[in-house]
Amino acid sequence: MSLLSLTNVSAFYGPSQALFKVSLRVAEGQVVALMGRNGMGKTTTVKTIFRMLPVAGGELLFDGHDLRRLASHRAAKLGLGLVPEGRRCFPNLTVEENLIAAARPGHWDFKRVAQLFPRLEERRSQSAASLSGGEQQMLAIGRALMTNPRLLVLDEATEGLAPIVRQEIWKAIGTLKHESGLAILVIDKSLKELARIADEAVVLQRGETVWHGPMADVGNGVAEQYLGV
Ligand code: ATP
Repeated sequence: MSLLSLTNVSAFYGPSQALFKVSLRVAEGQVVALMGRNGMGKTTTVKTIFRMLPVAGGELLFDGHDLRRLASHRAAKLGLGLVPEGRRCFPNLTVEENLIAAARPGHWDFKRVAQLFPRLEERRSQSAASLSGGEQQMLAIGRALMTNPRLLVLDEATEGLAPIVRQEIWKAIGTLKHESGLAILVIDKSLKELARIADEAVVLQRGETVWHGPMADVGNGVAEQYLGV
């Protein structure tokens, strides 16, 4: 059974329609890549899942709950964790305070997040504002983990980072998949990294799902046709 399922979701920014028919499924323990060129609706899809944008039509279910009826602040309670585009943290709080502020009971606590990202342990008492971009991204992932999600949504988690830091982040995402069995919906520009980590892929084009299938099949013309690769 799907943990998350979107069926024919539509959404608007004011009068302009951004999503027409978006459908996707993420099962327990599965990693799904949400793909598509710039402006095709990936972040907008994430916004509908987290109720940051009203849904005009279609069905969104998480673990059987109708997300359309859910107040947005309850998403974390249900087990939906977001690492938003632009890695938002509280700049004036320390690393530890940022993590504690997000905490909900469960497997993930400060110690476990620090094991995943040892740099956060080193920077524990520093303000989030003083961190490098990569460290802020680690903190953003750590904050989402502290909510003890059943599904983690990563929107461009490696965007703008140096290659070596990217590798650290991908390694951590791999650990989350293989050791924690966390379900993950991931958006990223690196086809190579997505091919390593994702089980399934969903491709958006102008706000519509135009392809879905095993990640291993994305190479067979799909990347050329829809991703401009
Ligand atoms: P990117 O990789 O560039 O972030 P994306 O696939 O995430 O691309 P979205 O950000 O979801 O794309 O954008 C989908 C469409 O909605 C685009 O046409 C975009 O111009 C439009 N759009 C996005 N945000 C807004 C907004 N706040 N107001 C109006 N239109 C928007």
